[in-house]
Amino acid sequence: MAIILHKFYRRVLVCIERVEREQNRVIMSIDNEQVLQVLHPVQDPELRRSIVDLGMVRDVIIDGLSIEIEIALTIAGCPMRATIEKSVMDAVHSLEEDLDCSIVFSVMTEEERSHVTQMVHGNPAETAGSQPAHGHAEGRSIPFAQPDSTTRVLLIASGKGGVGKSSVTTNLALALALKGKQVGVVDADVWGFSIPRMLGIDRPPTIINELLIPPERHGVKAISMGFFAQEDQPVIWRGPMLHKALEQFLTDVYWDNPDYLLIDLPPGTGDIALSLAQFLPRSELYVVTTPQAAALKVAQRAAFMAENVNLSVKAVIENMSWFIGDDEKQYFLFGSGGGQDLADRLNVPLIGQIPFIVDLREGSDNGNPLMASMPTSEAGQVFSKMAEVIDVQLAPTRKYNKELKFLN
Ligand code: ADP
Ligand code: MG
Repeated sequence: MAIILHKFYRRVLVCIERVEREQNRVIMSIDNEQVLQVLHPVQDPELRRSIVDLGMVRDVIIDGLSIEIEIALTIAGCPMRATIEKSVMDAVHSLEEDLDCSIVFSVMTEEERSHVTQMVHGNPAETAGSQPAHGHAEGRSIPFAQPDSTTRVLLIASGKGGVGKSSVTTNLALALALKGKQVGVVDADVWGFSIPRMLGIDRPPTIINELLIPPERHGVKAISMGFFAQEDQPVIWRGPMLHKALEQFLTDVYWDNPDYLLIDLPPGTGDIALSLAQFLPRSELYVVTTPQAAALKVAQRAAFMAENVNLSVKAVIENMSWFIGDDEKQYFLFGSGGGQDLADRLNVPLIGQIPFIVDLREGSDNGNPLMASMPTSEAGQVFSKMAEVIDVQLAPTRKYNKELKFLN
């Protein structure tokens, strides 16, 4: 019996030795090149670029079974640190599960940071000359104003406040994002910014040198004047200041070439619409109104203002169109027909009638918009349909470009 046991133990020991040898052979053959290769697909969550390409992988030290990786964060206190750490760990362990990986974090130098901003956002000096006619904050031009820009800019306007302009902006942005579009929102309503609250965004943009990285929620990136003002203090924006701030939102924010940029305008007519018309002459205006006749006149004024500054009104959206009671009946709380009437007068389509529903208001208040929580509800379907109409039927027709030639 003792001999059998002895033989068995020896065999086990031989097996363990063989496994260890095999493991070491695998480990020893891992080199820096392989580590960089598995780290290449890991992206910075905000910049959406490879951490290797961004120069964030500063050092890789391999010592037998252990690997130490130094990651240089773009800024100290980077909010994405934990996410990056997990992705790096997962990537390294995909090479070999038993590796003992540790990550050391450091912060980029000023020079490394400017390399990053140039890489993702271009060089101001290079882009400045290409389009001098439109905005040029710090010598940089507005990407959406370039003739080859593929971003559609939707201005969401209303004649007066409280008609649901911000709710429409937020839910329409989500509806477009749900269709797989890249979407950004600019909250330009300086006197009543509400987009961060409605989207549930609770942190300001990350700032890398001059570049602002917009926070993202529900698949939508957003920037708001609210990030730069104290909530309990009145904001006094004067014309030139507003103009400059808007220009910065369009140039110094890293939007990363979205399919749609929605801009929540302040109610009424004014400086902001004028500035935007100047910055983005190809933007499309959508007027939000409630169904009653009094709202109509005010909404019409906003639309005429837009035409005065040469912005094209694309469509009308009616909000709070009806309310469905417990008895399942439709109640027209705020009258009816206003949206269609305005659309007819402006000779544009009415692309949606959104019912009055309590869930929509609650969702706006608690940062969980209707399109995130109830996308298939009655109102949710209206937003999905509007997104579809905007994306397909109202897509701008491509202009003939004489530089394009057909290949025979
Ligand atoms: P605006 O941006 O035009 O001032 P908001 O989007 O802030 O308007 O809407 C004003 C108020 O009405 C908010 O409390 C919002 O939640 C609510 N609201 C907007 N649309 C609806 C709707 N269809 N059903 C219920 N409440 C709505
Ligand atoms: Mg608003």
